[in-house]
Amino acid sequence: MRRIAFFGGTFDPPHRGHLAIAKAAADHFHLDQVLFAPVAHQPLKDAQPATAFLHRYAMTALATQVDPRFVPSLLDAPRGHQQPHPNYTVDTLRQLRASLADEDEPAILFTLLGADSWLNIAHWHQAPQLLALSDWIVASRPGFSLAHAECALPPQVSAITGMDAGESYLELRHADAATTRVWFLPFMHEDISATELRAALAMDTVSGNLLPAAVEQYIRKASPYC
Ligand code: ATP
Repeated sequence: MRRIAFFGGTFDPPHRGHLAIAKAAADHFHLDQVLFAPVAHQPLKDAQPATAFLHRYAMTALATQVDPRFVPSLLDAPRGHQQPHPNYTVDTLRQLRASLADEDEPAILFTLLGADSWLNIAHWHQAPQLLALSDWIVASRPGFSLAHAECALPPQVSAITGMDAGESYLELRHADAATTRVWFLPFMHEDISATELRAALAMDTVSGNLLPAAVEQYIRKASPYC
């Protein structure tokens, strides 16, 4: 059975934190693929316009070169021809599940996200339905506590704690009695955000290896942040 994770994000730009949590998830949960899907129109980040989708996709494609399990994905590309249509993860996961079901080999689907995103999950479009569509892998992130991760759930979804091979998880109970699981990567401490990187890029003060080398070169050549 293939094990596939959907990893959506603005990726503006993709950075070392994204690659670190994807690698940890792939290693720890034996994933065959992590699909990095830049989101065209993130409904919860309307206040701050993102860099053009094509630049973000190009940078994501370059960033994912470092690991054969990482795959750039157009699943969350722009929707709607005349007016941009928000990309809701609930629609994207339904589409992904349908395409996986058409393939010969069955797959288990996970969604990978950071602690800040998980703590906001109740505000995502159709959160109760969304949470039933995959298992979840939540990576810790400095500044965001997962001590009461179950408190982030919408009221329609209940959870009990379980343990499997030494790993604790939350088992989510859905309206139709189906269950999905939330797993954790509690040992991630990547103190980096795209917001800080964009500010540093604007002042030409990016230091260290915060950006994958190929992404740094792309930014120098194509100037998406000028
Ligand atoms: P921004 O600062 O623009 O909000 P970001 O650094 O959070 O961006 P996104 O592309 O929005 O990056 O993140 C995509 C996913 O990766 C989200 O689920 C986010 O929680 C997770 N993520 C990003 N950076 C980290 C990090 N340093 N540690 C753990 N998770 C992270």
